[in-house]
Amino acid sequence: MLFNPASIAWNLWRSRRLSVDELQDLRNRKLRLMIRHAFERVPYYRALFTSAGLSPEDVQTTEDLKKIPVSAKEDLTAAGPDKFLAQGTDKGDCSFSRTSGSSGKPFSTYFNRRERMTRRLLGLRRLVDAGFRPWDRVCVMCDPGQLRSRRFRTRCLPATLPVEEQFARLRAMQPTVLLVWPTVLGLLLYYARRRSERFIRPRIVAVTGEECSDELRRTIESDLGAEVFSFYNAGEFGPIASECRAHQGLHVNADQMIVEFAPDAQADEPSDILITSLYSFTMPYIRYRIGDAGFLEEKQCPCGSCFPRLRLVEGRNNNIIHLPGERMFSASAVVSVVLRPFPTLRKFHLIQETADRLVLQAVFLEPPTAEILAYMQRRMFEYLGSGVKLDIAVVDSIDEERARKFGSFTSRLPNPISSIAGADTQR
Ligand SMILES: [Zn+2]
Repeated sequence: MLFNPASIAWNLWRSRRLSVDELQDLRNRKLRLMIRHAFERVPYYRALFTSAGLSPEDVQTTEDLKKIPVSAKEDLTAAGPDKFLAQGTDKGDCSFSRTSGSSGKPFSTYFNRRERMTRRLLGLRRLVDAGFRPWDRVCVMCDPGQLRSRRFRTRCLPATLPVEEQFARLRAMQPTVLLVWPTVLGLLLYYARRRSERFIRPRIVAVTGEECSDELRRTIESDLGAEVFSFYNAGEFGPIASECRAHQGLHVNADQMIVEFAPDAQADEPSDILITSLYSFTMPYIRYRIGDAGFLEEKQCPCGSCFPRLRLVEGRNNNIIHLPGERMFSASAVVSVVLRPFPTLRKFHLIQETADRLVLQAVFLEPPTAEILAYMQRRMFEYLGSGVKLDIAVVDSIDEERARKFGSFTSRLPNPISSIAGADTQR
């Protein structure tokens, strides 16, 4: 497919202004292309469709998607990555996103230049919807490995730095737009309150990567004077949904993906979210159970957008690693960065047992060597500093139900900043 950034940008911009019917036509057209591609070029989907007695002609509209069986991360992992990569793909020509973070199940997704550009532009579109202007100074405090771009005056600040260093650098930078993990910002606000210091006055704060409680949202608004937006992404899809200025749910990027819900859900219960990408031809995701739950809001948003709105249902969790000497870290930030370079790590659960002892339960695809485990420990100490004990327990499985509710981190300690972050502790 021809790579033309200007045409990708134009299409993304235009589809935001389509009528409901025009959008549906576009989605059906893209879906038919994707289904045919997956059937012809991707061994996993060819086998899946065949086992369900389906041919590409059976899926003409988004309604027909229901005929296709749901795939979970485990199904794709069990099939092996080469089975759901389009045939003829040269991985060397691709970018990839390796996620670990809150799900506790690391996973690599490959995408070509065109798809990478689409992801970037989706990231920009949601910022523009939130009120971003070209002269804004943007600071991204998420994952240092994910964003190295300096476009649009964007600076990346590693979320794994000690809080006092983050504080000082942010104060020097004075961003007008801040993209950040809620726990990371919660720690910064806690630090700022204890010093009775005001440090930044961003106009827009976009929280992403984990739950942001209502109380933390109010604290961000009152302490920073910022308008808060929630962004929902995943390594598999890039930006999925984001809040507009009406703040009534997150608009799904409905021109690039189809969000539906698992058929086995009970009425009135939040259902598992299934996503079908309409633009990822390199590694297609069709009816993929992403591991989050939510509701879809069908009524039109006051902002006028025809994109449906998603309300995510999130678990309550203390996501702070609290070490001696008042050193505090966002667990999501630490695991995302520390555990990235381990392709055979399949699932994990990090537990803070005591003030100075952590246990990492890890499921590997193949038994890890002593070198791998030692390297994992070294990386952890590099970020958390000395004076901490880390035991790595190689296990066969991890409690799925618990991981669904509470994510990949458990602390046996009380939440050190519960009064400001509003995050309940688990026990
Ligand atoms: Zn809206």
